[in-house]
Amino acid sequence: MSLLSVRNVTMKFGGLVAVNDVSFDVEKGEVFALVGPNGAGKSTVFNLISRFYDPFEGEIVFDGENLLDHAPSDIAQLGIARTFQNIELFENATVLQNMLVGRHTHRTSNLLSELFFLPSVRRAEIAHRRAVEDAIDFLNLHAYRDQLIAGLPYGVRKVVEMGRAMAIGPKLLLLDEPASGLSMEETQDVAFWVEDIKKIRGITVLMVEHDMHLVASVSDRVMALADGKRLALGTPQEVQNDPEVIKAYIGA
Ligand code: ADP
Ligand code: MG
Repeated sequence: MSLLSVRNVTMKFGGLVAVNDVSFDVEKGEVFALVGPNGAGKSTVFNLISRFYDPFEGEIVFDGENLLDHAPSDIAQLGIARTFQNIELFENATVLQNMLVGRHTHRTSNLLSELFFLPSVRRAEIAHRRAVEDAIDFLNLHAYRDQLIAGLPYGVRKVVEMGRAMAIGPKLLLLDEPASGLSMEETQDVAFWVEDIKKIRGITVLMVEHDMHLVASVSDRVMALADGKRLALGTPQEVQNDPEVIKAYIGA
């Protein structure tokens, strides 16, 4: 069984069909990339999977659960974490504080038990704290741990966002353009991390990325979208050489 199964999903914004009858499966343990020109519908697919939007039509199954039966606040607990194309961090909080808050952004439903300090909640708190420290180690963020986000370079903020998502301990990590705005060196670091996230952590990764070099170097499979439609799906090489994909990029 696939970890994630997106089936015949359509999303409309008024008259605009942003995602048009798209289907794909992401297998456990793989790195799957979504590519396509601007406006192709890539971020909308992410927003559907993270339940920011209700699809107009279609079904999304994650780890045996029908995602559409779940509220957006359940997503992190089900095992899905994401980063955003435009970084979303608290500017006036430290790296550590931003990473610690990650678990709470999606857990309002347990507020009552937190108030009563149930032992299970405290245990979860300690486990999350450990996961945050672990992500700081993994992503080499020690030097920035107690610094405010506001003063940090863009490349570091992107890594903090990845760390916050990782610390939730997800089964599926959604990365929206992890390399955009990064230098070549920083992009290389992202490539190493994505590989380690997959190989060492065993986390499945679904990413949107423009840098085809990065996509080809880390992805097991790639799906190309254009105008909301699926154009091709296969290995990075198959997709790069697909005549429809070449046409969509050159014609755009
Ligand atoms: P990509 O991430 O591939 O660049 P998006 O998924 O962001 O593309 O957008 C796909 C299409 O849907 C675009 O035409 C965009 O303008 C439109 N769109 C995305 N989000 C919204 C929204 N919240 N309201 C209206 N239109 C949207
Ligand atoms: Mg986008």
